[in-house]
Amino acid sequence: MTHLKGRRAIVTGSNSGIGLGIAEALAAAGADVVLNSFTDAAEDHALAADMAKRHGVAVTYIQADMSKADQCRSLIERAGGCDILVNNAGIQYVAKIEEFPVEKWDAIIAINMSSAFHCTAAALSGMYAKGWGRVVNVASAHGLTASPFKSAYVAAKHGVVGLTKVTALEAAGKGITCNAICPGYVLTPIVEKQIPDQMKTHNMDRETVIKEVMLARQPSGEFATTEQVGGIAAFLCSAAADQITGTTISVDGGWTAL
Ligand code: NAD
Repeated sequence: MTHLKGRRAIVTGSNSGIGLGIAEALAAAGADVVLNSFTDAAEDHALAADMAKRHGVAVTYIQADMSKADQCRSLIERAGGCDILVNNAGIQYVAKIEEFPVEKWDAIIAINMSSAFHCTAAALSGMYAKGWGRVVNVASAHGLTASPFKSAYVAAKHGVVGLTKVTALEAAGKGITCNAICPGYVLTPIVEKQIPDQMKTHNMDRETVIKEVMLARQPSGEFATTEQVGGIAAFLCSAAADQITGTTISVDGGWTAL
C-alpha cells in the first residue's frame, strides 16, 4: 500500500510510543517522514535511518522542543513544509488541582495543546498552495471526557479537539482535512510513567491500578496498540477519508460509549 508516495509527513514527538507507531504506518504507506523529539540522541537518528531502510522512503530526524512556540514553527520550516502534519507530542502529570504544580500545568498546555496550534499555523499555507493536506491531531479519550487528577491534560486535550474543529472549518473545501484521534489507554512510556503516580494516589499495586483504574474505563479490557492508532492515521490520510473532517475518531475499546 503506497497511497502516500510523494507526500511528506511531519510527526511531532515521534521517537517513541504512538508518534512512532504513526510514523511507521505513514512510512509503510509510502510517505517520506520527519521524526521529531527534543532529545537529539544518536538513537533518534538511528531510528530514522532504520525506518528509511525498511520502507524505502526518506526519513529524517529534526530536534525541536514542542514547549516553545518558535521551535514548533521552525520545525515546519526546517522540514521544508509538509503535506501531512501529525500533532502528537505530549506529556502527562497526575495530581489534585490544589496541589498541581504551576510549571507542570504550563508545560502540559504548551506541549499537548499550543504546539498543535503553532505547527498547524506554520504548515497550513504550504498545504493551501498545494490544494492538499492532512492535519491529524492526537487528542485522547480525555479530549471527550474527564478523569480526576488530570486537570491540565484534560483541559489541553479538550482544547485540541476544539482546535481540530476550527482548523477543519477554515480549511474546508480546500483539499485539506483536520481530525483528531482519541485513543483510550495505549501501553506506551507515557502510560508506564503514570503507573507509579496512580499507585501512590490510589494506594494500589501495579496490577490493580492497570485493571481497576486504567482498564476499568476501557470496556474491551485491553490496551489499544500503537499499530492500531497508526492504521487510523494512515486511513485519515487516504482518499477514502477526503470528506472526513472536523471530527474525532475514538480508539478506546468502548470507553466513551459508557
Ligand atoms: P510517549 O511518552 O511514548 O511519547 C511522547 C512523545 O512526545 C515522545 O516522542 C517524546 O519525545 C515527545 N515529547 C515530549 N515532550 C516533548 C517536547 N517538549 N518536544 C518534543 N517532543 C516531546 O507517549 P505516547 O503515549 O506515545 O503519547 C503520544 C501522544 O498520545 C500524546 O499526545 C498523548 O497525550 C497521546 N495519548 C496517549 C495515550 C496512551 O494511553 N498512551 C492515550 C491517549 C492519548
